[in-house]
Amino acid sequence: PHSGKVALVTGGNRGIGLETGRQLAALGFTVLLGSRDLAKGEAAARQLGGKVEAIALDVASPHAAALAAAEIERRFARLDMLVNNAAIHYDPRARALKPDWTVIREAFETNVFGAWRIAAACAPLLSASGHGRMINVSSEGGSLASMGAGAPAYSTTKATLNALTCILAAELRGAGVLVNAICPGWVATDMGGPGGRPVAQGAAGIVWAATLPDDGPTGGFFRDGKRLPW
Ligand code: NDP
Repeated sequence: PHSGKVALVTGGNRGIGLETGRQLAALGFTVLLGSRDLAKGEAAARQLGGKVEAIALDVASPHAAALAAAEIERRFARLDMLVNNAAIHYDPRARALKPDWTVIREAFETNVFGAWRIAAACAPLLSASGHGRMINVSSEGGSLASMGAGAPAYSTTKATLNALTCILAAELRGAGVLVNAICPGWVATDMGGPGGRPVAQGAAGIVWAATLPDDGPTGGFFRDGKRLPW
């Protein structure tokens, strides 16, 4: 049913992004793996095979989002799914009272402004789809309902991404674009470290949101298809 649809996954060259690309390709999507190092993205795309290709996209670069959106517009004239997955600086042992401003600024540049720029650049393409889906890969660590000490850079960026999710959902209501924040759970990746659940399980919750029916939820926060408190 998804054959011919086009999906862009940021940070698609490894981890949860790569696995999300694999699952979407298996459903028939044409998948663009956004990668800040194009060679790494191309190697990942070859690994997946099928209708998967790499696209240069450093989300922390001010101009890269507009360039990627222009390329997608030229080639496909629309985008059916945007997965804002790229993120950095999970800092559980850091403390807000000893702020490392370099880490905090870098985290906001990638996790928040990166997602924001590509969301804005791709919004017309998602609207052109008629059935656009945007997934902001967040974390329960960004939930105000469960906020505690530590991870100051990471948790504040994910809380901000959650706020942005609500605003984008409202601004895209009526354009057929569903926008949701998804927590993949604790997943065994480079970021999550050993002990987390398999990457396929983390990606499945993202693919669930990516393939919601037109009357599905928007402006929500979910893990494994179940609502999380903001
Ligand atoms: P990884 O660290 O394994 O992978 C991160 C990916 O993001 C890499 O492909 C990396 O590219 C890319 N990336 C980082 N910065 C940029 C940038 N500026 N431009 C483009 N791509 C970039 O992380 P995970 O796969 O574990 O995490 C994926 C998402 O899931 C993140 O949003 C994370 O916050 C979220 N999450 C993860 C959890 C977990 O337990 N793993 C738990 C909750 C949420 P490169 O190879 O070039 O570095």
